[in-house]
Amino acid sequence: MEKKVLITGVAGFLGSHLAKDLLAEGCLVIGIDNLYSGKITNINGLPYDRFIYKEMDVCSQKLITDPDFKNVQEIYHLASPASPKYYQAAPFETINANTVGTKNMLELAKRHQAKLVYTSTSEAYGDPEVHPQPESYRGNVNTWGPRACYDEAKRMGEVLCYLYFKEYQTKVKVARLFNTYSAGLANDDGRVISNFVTQALKGEDITVYGNGTQTRSFCYVTDTIRGLKLLMEKDEANGEIINIGNPVEYSILELAERVKKLTGSESTITFHPLPEDDPNVRRPDIQKAKKILGWQPVTALEDGLRLTVMEYQKKLSIY
Ligand code: UDP
Repeated sequence: MEKKVLITGVAGFLGSHLAKDLLAEGCLVIGIDNLYSGKITNINGLPYDRFIYKEMDVCSQKLITDPDFKNVQEIYHLASPASPKYYQAAPFETINANTVGTKNMLELAKRHQAKLVYTSTSEAYGDPEVHPQPESYRGNVNTWGPRACYDEAKRMGEVLCYLYFKEYQTKVKVARLFNTYSAGLANDDGRVISNFVTQALKGEDITVYGNGTQTRSFCYVTDTIRGLKLLMEKDEANGEIINIGNPVEYSILELAERVKKLTGSESTITFHPLPEDDPNVRRPDIQKAKKILGWQPVTALEDGLRLTVMEYQKKLSIY
C-alpha cells in the first residue's frame, strides 16, 4: 500500500514542491492550506486520485479527529507565512500556525504513530553573533521587534517538538531552514531573490535594503526538499534539530549585481532603508546534516539563479 503523507501549507512554495515530489514517488498525499500566503494555482493539476486537498487551518481542532488523517504515516508541518512581508502583516496568525498548529500536528503524530518533520528557521538564531551558525548556538533574538512574531513562534514550535519527543517519544525532527529559493516563489513574495529577479526582468530598480553588506546563504529548492525528505527517512534524526541550508554566503549587493548580470538587465541598483532587526550575517554550519543525513546542497547559486531567471521569464512572458 502506498505511503500516506500529510503536508501542511501544501499550497505554499515548499509545500507544493514537496507534494509534487512525493506524488511522483507514488505516495498518497493529503495537503491542507488556509491560503493566506499559499496559492491554489501552485497545486492545480495534481493527480486527484492520489492527492486530497483540504482548505483548512492548521490550528483547527477538527484536524485531530478528521477521518481523512487516519493512519497517516508521515507529516511535514510547513504551514506558516515565511516571507517577512507576509508574517509581519499577520503576526498573530503566524504565532498560532507555529504554536497551536504545531501542537495539533504533534497530537496527530502521537495518535497515529506518525513521523513528523517540523520546518523551523535560521531566524531561530536571530541576528547571530556566532558565524557560521551550528545548531548548538542559542541565538540572539529580539522579542521586541517586527521579526519576533516569526522567530519566537518558530522557537516555541521547537519547544513543543522537544516536549513530545521527550514525553511521548514522538518521532519528530526539526529542520532549521535557511533562505531557500526558486521561481516557485511568487513574484510578489517580497523575499530578496524573487524581488531582484522580477525587478531585473521588468527593468525596474533593483531595491537593495541598507548598503547591501548584510549576507545570506541561498539554497536551491531541490536541495532543501531533498534535505527534508532525508530528515523524514532517517531514524537517527529523531529528536534532532538540523540546519538545512547552503553554506556559501553572499552579500546582498553581490546578489543584486549577479542578478543584473545574469539577466542582462539595464535596471539601476538603488538603496533603501534597512528594515529593523534585519540580520547582518547568516550562514549555516551543515556538519550535522552531513553526518546524520549524508546531505549537502549540490546546486551552486549561479546554476540555481539561471534556472530561476528562465522560469520567471516564462511566468512573466518576457523572452
Ligand atoms: N532585501 C533587499 N531587497 C529586497 C528584499 C530583501 O535588500 O527587495 C534584503 C533584506 O533586507 C535581507 C535580505 O535581503 O537583508 C534577505 O531578505 P529576505 O526577505 O529574502 O529574507 P530574510 O533572510 O531577511 O528573512
